[in-house]
Amino acid sequence: MVKRQLQRMLDAIESEVRFTSNMIGKKALDPKVMSAMSNTPREKFVPKFYSDYAFDNGPLPIGHGQTISQPYIVALMTDLLELEADDVVLEIGTGSGYQAAILSQLCKQVYSIEYVPELADMAKARLKKLGYNNIEMKAGNGYDGWPEHGPYDGIIITAAASHIPKPLIEQLKPGGRMVIPVGQHHMYQELQLVEKDENGELSIKDILGVAFVPFRGERND
Ligand code: SAH
Repeated sequence: MVKRQLQRMLDAIESEVRFTSNMIGKKALDPKVMSAMSNTPREKFVPKFYSDYAFDNGPLPIGHGQTISQPYIVALMTDLLELEADDVVLEIGTGSGYQAAILSQLCKQVYSIEYVPELADMAKARLKKLGYNNIEMKAGNGYDGWPEHGPYDGIIITAAASHIPKPLIEQLKPGGRMVIPVGQHHMYQELQLVEKDENGELSIKDILGVAFVPFRGERND
């Protein structure tokens, strides 16, 4: 049963990728990303109450007013990072831990920061129970990043920011990539791909419109 539902989710991601191919600049995602999506039990990351919907291609509530992102968006953001096996990645907004679990299968180490302490505790316990052992987490404001472990090959922000936090730009390695939803509106942001070249110059590309929960505790820098 779960297998059939999972296949339906993978098919839905593939068809949405084809549907949006003009915007995202590709007709299919990296097979390694799709296989991480296929190997991760999304039903274990959503509240029991929603387990029947775990494989729908949509976001779901995870408590504290937060959501687990839509599978297509998780896959797309992961794909945009173009991770390699040796990479170290920083995630801001652990939420359920699902995105961190996907990333952990495609790189060496994931660091993830969650603003809501209760969600951070739940995600930590869940990831440990499921045996993901290359994810380190902490509760706090991800605006400041996690400088002790940086710089990072990839940074992924899964809450909508009004601007790209300066500390995160500083903690991105030359040659590294960042994906972040940027926008003032609660219901609409632009998913941006930020690339830092070997000289530290940034280039920013708009990918497509998305709807994330707001970034909390933003600062002005
Ligand atoms: N990646 C998550 C999606 C989480 S939704 C998943 O796979 O389930 C976004 C999360 O970002 C929420 O849990 C929210 O509490 C968190 N968040 C919002 N602002 C934050 C901040 N400044 N620092 C860290 N986490 C933040």
